Amino acid sequence: MIARVIVDVPSRQTDRPFDYEVPSAMSGWIEVGSRVGVPFGGRVLQGFVVELAAEAEVDSRRLKAVAELLDPLPPLLPDLIGLAKWMSDKYCCSWTTALQAMIPAALKGKAERYVSLNDSLDEELEQLASRLPQELLDMLSRQRQTKLESLKERFPQYAPDIKAALEEGVLLEQTAIRDRLAIRKVLTVFPPADKAAAAEALAAWPTKAGKQRELLAFMLERGEPIALQALLAEAGGSPASVRAVAAKGLLELREIEQQRDPYASREFERTVPLPLTEGQQSVYTRIADAVTRGEPQVLLLHGVTGSGKTEVYLQAIQHCLKQGKQAIVLVPEIALTPQMVERFKGRFGDAVAVLHSRLSNGERYDEWRKIRSRKVQVAIGARSAIFAPFERIGLVIIDEEHESSYKQEESPKYHARDVSVQRARQHGAAVVLGSATPSLESYAAASRRPAEGRESSLLPMPDRALGRPLPPVTVIDMRAELAAGNRSMFSRTLHEGLVQRLERGEQTVLLLNRRGYSTFVMCRSCGYTALCPHCDISLTYHQKSRLLRCHYCGHAEQAPQTCPSCESEHIRFFGTGTQRVEEELAKLFPGIRVIRMDVDTTTEKNAHEKLLKRFGDREADVLLGTQMVAKGLDFPFVTLVGVIAADTSLNLPDFRSAERTFQLLTQVAGRAGRHQLPGEVVVQTYSPEHYAVTTAQKHDYIRFVEEELKHRGVMGYPPYCRLVLVTMSHEQLALLSSVSEQFAERLRELAAEEGVLGPLGAGLPRALEVLGPVASPISRMKDRYRFQCVIKYRGNIDVPALLRAALAPFVAGSPQKLVQFSIDVDPQVIL
Ligand code: ADP
Ligand code: ZN
Ligand code: ZN
Repeated sequence: MIARVIVDVPSRQTDRPFDYEVPSAMSGWIEVGSRVGVPFGGRVLQGFVVELAAEAEVDSRRLKAVAELLDPLPPLLPDLIGLAKWMSDKYCCSWTTALQAMIPAALKGKAERYVSLNDSLDEELEQLASRLPQELLDMLSRQRQTKLESLKERFPQYAPDIKAALEEGVLLEQTAIRDRLAIRKVLTVFPPADKAAAAEALAAWPTKAGKQRELLAFMLERGEPIALQALLAEAGGSPASVRAVAAKGLLELREIEQQRDPYASREFERTVPLPLTEGQQSVYTRIADAVTRGEPQVLLLHGVTGSGKTEVYLQAIQHCLKQGKQAIVLVPEIALTPQMVERFKGRFGDAVAVLHSRLSNGERYDEWRKIRSRKVQVAIGARSAIFAPFERIGLVIIDEEHESSYKQEESPKYHARDVSVQRARQHGAAVVLGSATPSLESYAAASRRPAEGRESSLLPMPDRALGRPLPPVTVIDMRAELAAGNRSMFSRTLHEGLVQRLERGEQTVLLLNRRGYSTFVMCRSCGYTALCPHCDISLTYHQKSRLLRCHYCGHAEQAPQTCPSCESEHIRFFGTGTQRVEEELAKLFPGIRVIRMDVDTTTEKNAHEKLLKRFGDREADVLLGTQMVAKGLDFPFVTLVGVIAADTSLNLPDFRSAERTFQLLTQVAGRAGRHQLPGEVVVQTYSPEHYAVTTAQKHDYIRFVEEELKHRGVMGYPPYCRLVLVTMSHEQLALLSSVSEQFAERLRELAAEEGVLGPLGAGLPRALEVLGPVASPISRMKDRYRFQCVIKYRGNIDVPALLRAALAPFVAGSPQKLVQFSIDVDPQVIL
C-alpha cells in the first residue's frame, strides 16, 4: 500500500503529495487524514495522508517508508482533506498551510532528535565510547532513547566527544515527531474494590500508621475515585502514605486521562425552549425543513437586534440533533462571552464543545478531542471552529455574519463564511447566516434568488422578541456644537444624558471607534474630508512626507493648511484615543466610575470577561471602549449609548467604510433599552447628512443597502465585482518596484490572452482590471518595502489560475525569487 502524503513544508515547490510505502504493521491503521512522520530531505517531518493507493507514481524501488504513525485515530477526516485542497486552490495558499489551520496547535508536532548507544561496536569504537563520561553512558543505557537536547544541556563540556561519537557511529541518531502537548494524565486514587475486606482491615488496623488508616477510612466513606492531589488536600497525608495503603492492596492508584474542561467549575442552569413568536416560528420552520431535507442551502436570517435570533438557533440545533446530525455555531471571537456560552451550555449541557482563542492550547485540544471522539454534537467557536471534525453535519450557523473577523488575516487567508458553504455542500447541511446588518455580499446573493426564479433565501425578523421598541437615536451635528462654542468632545446632549444616568444610577455605554493605523483629514468647521478624485475614498495623511495619499490608486496631493471648502483653519488630522476620553470623563464628572475596554486593557487572559462581569454587576457607571463594546452585550441597566465620533470609521480609506459605520451604529444602538428600562442613543458626527448615519438613525437597513449599492455600482466595488489583493515585499525598493511592474504587466498579458482584460464599467459579462502596483498603505514593514496590486474582476474567471501563471517566473528566478508575494482573495480590508 502507498500513502500519498502532504509534507509540512510550506513552499510552492513542495506543495504536492509525495508517495511513501506503508509498512505492513501500519497498514490497518493508516487512513486518509492520518498524521504521519515521514523521511524528507534527511529529516523526519510531519505530514498528512491525503490519499491511499495500490501503486506508486514513482519507481517503487526508490520509495521510502512512512516512519511513524502519530495518532491511533486520524485527526482529520476525508472531507476536511478535500476542503483543504479546495482552500489551497481558492485562496492561493499551499495545501499544507490549509491542513495546518484545521488541527489544534497541540498537534502541530515538532521534530525531536534522539540518540542511543550503538550496541554493536568493534574494539576501536569501544575505545571512543570510553572517552564519554560514565554518567552519560549510564543515562544512555537506562533510557532506550535520550533527547539530544538534554545531553547537550547536561554535558556541555563533552560537546566535542559527543560530536565525534555521533560522527563515528558510536552514538546513533533518530528523529521523531513529538506533539507539543500531551494528553493530561492525572494520578487518581480508587476506593477499595473489596469493600468488606477493606472494612475488616480498617477495624483491625494497628495503632501505628494512623494517617494510612484515616486515608482508607476516607476512601471507604467516599466510595468514588479522586485525584491524588485532591485527596491529600481534603484528607491530609502524603503520597507515600497513600502508596503504602495501595501496596497493601486496599486502595488502587492509577493514572487516568483527564479532560481539561474550562467550564468544569461552572454550573449551567438548564433552560427549556421558549414558545416562539410568530416571526421566529416561520423562520424556524424554513431552517428545520432545510435540515430535514439535507440539501445544502444557504439561508440569510436578517433579524433586528433583540429579535431573538439566538432562540431560533437553539431550536434549529435541537431539531438537527434529533435528526442524528451535528451542528457548528460560529460566533465572532469578541462576542463569544460567558453570556453566550451559557445560552448554549444551558440548553445542551455536555453536548457542547467550546473553541476559542482565549483557551489554553491544552484546553482547546481537549475540547477538540471531545468532538473527534463523538462525545459532543455541537461545537461553538470562533472562525476556525468551522473545521470541527464532525462526521455528519446538519447545520452550520454563522452569527453576526457581517463581521470582518471571519476573515483570517494571515495565511490561509480564508473567509469562514465561504468555507462553511463549501463544507456544508459536502455534508448536505444547511448554512444559516444571521445578522441585524447582513454584509452587502450576502444580502445581494440572497436577494438575487427570486429574480432567478428560485425560492428566496432571505428570512426576515423585523420585530423585537420582547416587544420593546428599538431605541430612539439622536444625531448631533458636532459642527454646530463648535459654532455654539462647545469645544469639548461631548456634545451638550450627551453631557446631559450622562448627568441624568449618574443621577438615576443607570448605566452608559460609550463607543469610540478607532481602528486602522491611518489618520484622516477633516475640517472641524464644515465637516469637509479630503477624498481621492478617482476612488471616492478618503485620503490618508502621511506625516513624514506631509502628503495625502490614496491607498487604492496611488494618487497623492499636498496636505492643506486651511480647509479647501470653507477656508477655516480648524482643519485637523484626526485620530483620538480612548484614554483621552477617559481623562475627559474624569475631569467633567468627578467620581465617575469608568471601565475602559480596548486592546490595552484586554491583553490579559479573561480580561475581557472580567471587565464585562464588573460592568454587569454595576461596579461602573460607564463602559467605554472601541468596537468591542458594540457586540452582543445584554445589560438591563444600560439606558444610554453614546457614539463619540461616528466619523472615525466613516472616513477610513476603505470602500466598506460606510457599511462598517452603519453596522457599528446599528449594533451599538441595539445595546440600549433591551429590557424594562427604555433606552436612547446619541450619535455625534461631523457628517449628519451621510446616508450611513441617517439610515442608522431610522434603523432602516433596506434603505441603507439601496444607497450603498448605488455607490458600489458606480465605483465598481463588491458585490458588483470581486477583489484580490497582491502584496509584494523586498528590502530593495528599486528591485521591488521593477518586479512588481513586471508582475502586473504579466498578469495583464495573461488576462488579455484569456480575453478578459478590460474595464469593469464597460458592461462586459467577464472583465478584469489590474490596479497598481502602488506602495502599500504600510509602505515598509520590518525593513521590507511593500507594494500592492488590486485585481478587480467580474464574471466567471479563474483568477487563482491566472495568478499562479503570472507568479511562476518570480518563484524560480534568482534575485527575483526573493520578492515575497502574498495573496489575499476577497480581502476584507485594503488598508
Ligand atoms: P438577538 O440575538 O436577535 O439580538 P436575542 O436572541 O439576544 O436577540 O434575544 C433578545 C431577548 O429576547 C433575549 O432576552 C431573549 O431571551 C428574549 N427572547 C427571544 N425569543 C423569545 C421568545 N420566543 N419568548 C420570550 N423571550 C424571547
Ligand atoms: Zn471647512
Ligand atoms: Zn485613488
